[in-house]
Amino acid sequence: MANTAETAVCRMCRREGAKLFLKGQRCYTPKCAFDRRSYAPGQHGPAAVGGRPAKVKAYGTQLRAKQKARRVYGVREKQFRLYLHEAMRRQGVTGENLLQLLELRLDNVVYRMGFAASRGQSRELVVHGHFLVNGRKVNTPSYLVKVGDVISVKESSRGLSPIVQTIESNAGSRVPVWLESNPEGRQARVLSAPSRDQIDTDVDETLIIEFYSR
Ligand code: SF4
Repeated sequence: MANTAETAVCRMCRREGAKLFLKGQRCYTPKCAFDRRSYAPGQHGPAAVGGRPAKVKAYGTQLRAKQKARRVYGVREKQFRLYLHEAMRRQGVTGENLLQLLELRLDNVVYRMGFAASRGQSRELVVHGHFLVNGRKVNTPSYLVKVGDVISVKESSRGLSPIVQTIESNAGSRVPVWLESNPEGRQARVLSAPSRDQIDTDVDETLIIEFYSR
């Protein structure tokens, strides 16, 4: 019988074989589609979870790692490649640079600040102009914030229910150490660029780089 609670977004989690936390609070409830059915969607799904890894060629594993990262951060392929090129251009470890760039996107930062329940919701809020960077409205989710930047909620949006509800439900939750969040003041400051050990995203960036190095 069809599971009416499942959405296309949730199917991404089942496809990647991991919870990607794309639906906000729902991901932490028993309604989570992945918790209910942790095998891949489709006719061959149940067999895929147990049987696939041993047979999957390196290409498939690398592709899945790349797709998983794209889905977690909600980035299209073309833009993902641009991040990769920028990551390669920068000094340091390319995979780490790539994750750092993804983390510094404004939509991700708003989510990490604890002001949006998911990156998807964060994107919507940013697009609708509810956030400022250093006092200036920025409605581009892919905007890359810099160390020292202050991200704040626009004055007239301080009472917006999705923001207020998320801040309330995140009360007491930890914010990444590279951010200094002030929920009451509706703002946060970027203290540093995140290092790999400060990024809890469960993706293997080495596989991603391997994918593009083929
Ligand atoms: Fe859906 Fe969230 Fe569960 Fe993924 S983790 S299946 S997005 S509810």
